[in-house]
Amino acid sequence: MTKRLYNFNPGPAALPLEVLEEAQETFVDFQGTGISLLEMSHRSRGVEQLNQETQQLLLHLLNLPTSDYEVLFMGGGASTQFALLPMNFLPANQTAHYVLTGSFAEKAYKEAAYLGKTQIAASSKDQNWQYIPDLHETELTADAAYLHLTLNNTIEGSRFQQIPEVGSTPLVADMTSDILSRQLDLERFSMIYAGAQKNLGPAGVTVAIVRKTWLQQASTQIPEIMRYETFAKHQSLYNTPPVHAIYMMNLVLKWTLQQGGAASLELQNKHKAKLIYDIIDGTSGFYQGLIAHKDRSDMNITWRMSSEQIEKAFIQESRENGFEGLAGHRSVGGMRASAYNAVPLEACQALADFMKAFARKYG
Ligand SMILES: *Cc1c(COP(=O)(O)O)cnc(C)c1O
Repeated sequence: MTKRLYNFNPGPAALPLEVLEEAQETFVDFQGTGISLLEMSHRSRGVEQLNQETQQLLLHLLNLPTSDYEVLFMGGGASTQFALLPMNFLPANQTAHYVLTGSFAEKAYKEAAYLGKTQIAASSKDQNWQYIPDLHETELTADAAYLHLTLNNTIEGSRFQQIPEVGSTPLVADMTSDILSRQLDLERFSMIYAGAQKNLGPAGVTVAIVRKTWLQQASTQIPEIMRYETFAKHQSLYNTPPVHAIYMMNLVLKWTLQQGGAASLELQNKHKAKLIYDIIDGTSGFYQGLIAHKDRSDMNITWRMSSEQIEKAFIQESRENGFEGLAGHRSVGGMRASAYNAVPLEACQALADFMKAFARKYG
């Protein structure tokens, strides 16, 4: 057996070992068919079933009723959703509202601004994204088409702890880095979307989950391949979907179910993150958390140290000790540990121990 690293990569990220092993076992001959899944028609019965089962499983795990929501499997990553959302749901006579809480949120906003009228409902850019703005007093214009939130800010390490109350405007969430990591009342959303490569599987498939009644209002003035309605009408088999990525997601969802689903993973994730936050808070400034305590994410844990030199030493020594992926995003520097669902408790415990020893050595 090869030695596996403690993988804290931000995305593509750690997958459960059991999932990798099962995928390996089925790789060459898929379920006794004599060919691999990679070579199989997406119109075959096996693939159709896999596709449908995976959609049902996802809704089940998200606690969303199949009668009200469509699950779409698309390509292009979460970034393509930044553009597809306004193409479909921002008519010329309305305004799309965005809450800017990090660089992905800002990218989503910028893409929408190419396509229609947009407005910033709230922003924490003035403070380097270090907090989540309070939306309590936010007044949305009467012509609001939707309000877009990035529920978990992957690069910065912050998140909305609750879904904000903003009246009757349709809510849309980018949940790429927190989907199925905690229990939330997702029926509050008209649409959620997520690239798979953080909590759902490998890169290559993106899920969009859209309320059926909202879907009816989507634009029909855009090319068919850009319409959510096209994917809904054809159960995401309008054109060739990323079949193998969907299969991997299927395995990850089954693993998620075995773990007890989002409610149980939320507890585990809280425990895992606390091991690391306790070290950050308990070393009198050796490690400096970047985010207001109340807004901290359990998925992406960020911190800085007193100099770039010591940060470099930290990364180097962490590598030598079997840790992967702890450097912060190139746009912000510092450190980031991404502890998604598939990152085991032992990895977080090992990281906490390493951080403690490192602080003793250099502090
Ligand atoms: C990773 C990420 C993205 C970008 O995803 P791609 O699939 O690479 O386009 C967007 N939003 C959030 C919150 C992310 O974590």
